[in-house]
Amino acid sequence: MTTIDADILIIGSGITAALMAARLAETTTRGITVVEAGRATTPFAERARARARFMAYGESPWKQDHLDDQNAFGTAWGFSPSMTVGGLAMHWGGVAPRYSPEDFTLRSLYGVGDDWPFTYDELDPFYQEAEERMGVSGEQGPVALDPRGKPYPLPPLPVNHNLKQLQGWATAAGIAAWSTPSAKNSVPRDGRAQCQRCDTCYPVCPSGAKYSPDFTWDALVAANKVTLLTETLIRRLVADPKTGAIVRATGNRTDAGGEKVSITATTVVLAAGFTWSPHLLLLSRDAAHPDGLANRSGMVGRYLAGHRNVNAYVTLPLELFPGINAQHSLVSKQFMRVPKSGRYLRHDLRLWESDVGREPRLRNDAGAVQFGDALLDDWRARAKGATARVRAYYDVLPDRDSRITLDSAHTNRFGDPMPSLAFRDAPESAALRPWQEEQVAALFRRMAKAGNGTVLKMENSVNDLGQEHPAGGCRMGNDPATSVVDKWGRAHDHENLWVAGAPTQVSASCCNGTLTFVANGLRTASAIARA
Ligand SMILES: Cc1cc2nc3c(=O)[nH]c(=O)nc-3n(C[C@H](O)[C@H](O)[C@H](O)COP(=O)(O)OP(=O)(O)OC[C@H]3O[C@@H](n4cnc5c(N)ncnc54)[C@H](O)[C@@H]3O)c2cc1C
Ligand code: SF4
Repeated sequence: MTTIDADILIIGSGITAALMAARLAETTTRGITVVEAGRATTPFAERARARARFMAYGESPWKQDHLDDQNAFGTAWGFSPSMTVGGLAMHWGGVAPRYSPEDFTLRSLYGVGDDWPFTYDELDPFYQEAEERMGVSGEQGPVALDPRGKPYPLPPLPVNHNLKQLQGWATAAGIAAWSTPSAKNSVPRDGRAQCQRCDTCYPVCPSGAKYSPDFTWDALVAANKVTLLTETLIRRLVADPKTGAIVRATGNRTDAGGEKVSITATTVVLAAGFTWSPHLLLLSRDAAHPDGLANRSGMVGRYLAGHRNVNAYVTLPLELFPGINAQHSLVSKQFMRVPKSGRYLRHDLRLWESDVGREPRLRNDAGAVQFGDALLDDWRARAKGATARVRAYYDVLPDRDSRITLDSAHTNRFGDPMPSLAFRDAPESAALRPWQEEQVAALFRRMAKAGNGTVLKMENSVNDLGQEHPAGGCRMGNDPATSVVDKWGRAHDHENLWVAGAPTQVSASCCNGTLTFVANGLRTASAIARA
């Protein structure tokens, strides 16, 4: 058995944990030990080679980024099995918008969902810090829609010829759209290159222009600021039955030996993401806590949140040149701020150039196989004109029964039941869904008309049972009867236990969530340093 005596123990090494550790290392002298179930994936120095192999053979550049037997079941769309140093953000696209101020006061403003225990303005400095730590390139949108205390740390990624054309189209449709904020270097920074527009953000950025958490871990480990213990799965937290304090975290190595590990710590931070944080609390039930730790309210695992989308491809009488940084897009927050009366619908809006309907093809309309110049001529003719992609994420209000439970039919190598996910919309959200999707579809049709274009195809979320940018399961609140952690992320039931980021969220807005998970985590780190 390996035994470790830690000061601050952080469980999980995802993006939230990385930036919290960076802040804690600057603001406390206490020792920080980080435990990660997986191992490190392809190091930065090898990414160009990994990309080359990926392109040549369709191989994954992120081999062995998971534990074969740690999986979720049920309606698990949105769940990713990646368990690795850096977590899911080793794979992310780097799209980093903020929520809108309305997200934090939905109940007060619109009479739906729940208010957060703090406001957008209180989160603003932590949003800024998250953007500065990872390096977000962004353009200030209209201030009323996109308020911020300070400018973006990096200038925006360029609105190139293609996006300028699409911006003109959006303007004609009455929509203000601007460069999407992204955690990608628009200028060289932190020893990493400027974005090379090579369009392999998924699955690998060879130049390091896109931020990923391994950069932070590498720097912290090299400076001896943290001890990072990889291939170690925490399987239980042990609480003192009288005081409720967490006295120990126990688990096993996930290497071939599977050796037992026991860690004592004065402060425990659960930063294991939206699935595994509630899962570990549920697994850690004991005689004094028969429903699991931090679960006096019965709220652990409940109120899983996320959003769905409506997506359309529109052909337009414009001249675009497909393939120039197709990963970069325009964004609008116009529909995230809506009138307080009327039926509830809020959504974001993104616009990309697309090659849909303009791809090269091996057979022509007559079905004849094409080679060489004939193939290229056919492609040139098809590539003329423009296809745009528009997508809106719309709010889904989380339900109390949108939840994670333990599924004893599926166990890992240690015999622990795996999580079962069941995403549910709150009934009022489910009732609005057909109308909401039709409203967004009608907007896309109006946009197509404003640009003298045609809707080529329209589709609603394919993830009918799950939701994107999943969060929740350990929601924040002032009332210990209806929430798991307080407004700083400290468990109501255990004085030295903190839950970080995604699981604590009250709702998941209608845009990509990771920047908010991290800002929320940095807010928790500020409270840990004060405690
Ligand atoms: C392909 C893809 C693209 C994406 N693109 C975007 C995007 O453009 N914008 C955006 O906002 N979001 C995006 N996301 C989502 C984003 O990656 C996640 O929201 C974010 O990474 C979550 O970070 P986290 O810190 O909450 O947790 P995680 O990344 O889930 O990290 C948790 C870590 O804890 C470890 N762990 C869990 N349990 C234990 C345990 N018991 N013991 C030890 N370790 C444990 C896990 O192995 C993992 O490394 C994308 C996701 C994917 C998969
Ligand atoms: S376009 Fe290329 S260089 Fe830029 S972030 Fe994506 S992968 Fe990295």
